Amino acid sequence: MALLEVRHLTTVFRTPFGAVRACDDVSFDVAPGEVLGIVGESGSGKTLTALSVLGLVPPPGRIEAGSIRFAGEELVGTPEARLRRLRGRDIGMVFQDAGRALDPVHTIASQLREAAGKRADVAALLGRVGLDGRLASRYPHELSGGQRQRAMIAIAIARTPRLVIADEPTTAVDSISQVQVLHELARIQRELGCALIVISHNLGLISRLADRVLVMYLGRVMEQNAVRPFVAGPRHPYARALLAATPALDLDRRTGRLAGIRGLPARMIEVPPGCPFHPRCPDAEARCSVEVPAWRAHADGSGAACHLLDAPAPLPSPVTPGQAQGERFAPAPPAAEIADGTLP
Ligand code: SF4
Repeated sequence: MALLEVRHLTTVFRTPFGAVRACDDVSFDVAPGEVLGIVGESGSGKTLTALSVLGLVPPPGRIEAGSIRFAGEELVGTPEARLRRLRGRDIGMVFQDAGRALDPVHTIASQLREAAGKRADVAALLGRVGLDGRLASRYPHELSGGQRQRAMIAIAIARTPRLVIADEPTTAVDSISQVQVLHELARIQRELGCALIVISHNLGLISRLADRVLVMYLGRVMEQNAVRPFVAGPRHPYARALLAATPALDLDRRTGRLAGIRGLPARMIEVPPGCPFHPRCPDAEARCSVEVPAWRAHADGSGAACHLLDAPAPLPSPVTPGQAQGERFAPAPPAAEIADGTLP
């Protein structure tokens, strides 16, 4: 049974200018111990999906439809007091920018004790994320960006949650610290055996960390698949474009040029009719601007939403049994790669 089951999640912001469907019919599962990567450009609904799971959608947004079940318990409509108990104890959150998420007027020790209880062994909690226990007495501004992000992870895992959600965990740190934070997350996930959702626009990071990938665009899920077949050949044109624009995976080494995605995502308040990607899609057909593509599911749990996949022709890079879950695309890189900065 899945630890987290999200079905037809629809989170809407009703504004004076119209409705913004931040999550539009989003469905996915996360199994115990599984790592799911959620990728997409800014404004694709990745963070709002995580905030919906945590019951932290800011007003005027609200979940208008769908279901979120965690360990069999329905979270949509659950009283705030119950959600507050789940957050931190069963579901940990690593926020995007630790510099802003940590309280500047409290030491790291006091913030760890608030999360883990007054008797928590603060030095041991910091040790879990590779930080010296002596940093416990410092305030967030006295730490480097990488140390702050690790302290944030220590707080998120203080109560050994069953699910950790990390929202752009490496965005606010330099490239060397990015790799270190990434490795800490991977190591902690293995040691705790918890499930992990990593939200990122960095496909290189996701390909190293995740078992499965969920690709979002303008609030909708475009494709989901196991990492290995996804990297070998995504089905959805948007997923293909995203992969082609990722330096470490698809850099044209002869010219050094990347294949960018033409145009910009539409504003969430004016999502195009039909397939939301059609104004930018190189494969768009006439029906793409009027008909919303149906979700084409496969028995292995993968799927994509694109009219081109309606055709009976063989799909590119079918998923083979055994690849759907539990296989990482790439093992953790050697320390030498960290040192010379060759990682994405
Ligand atoms: Fe492109 Fe049409 Fe597929 Fe959308 S449905 S991704 S516009 S081909």
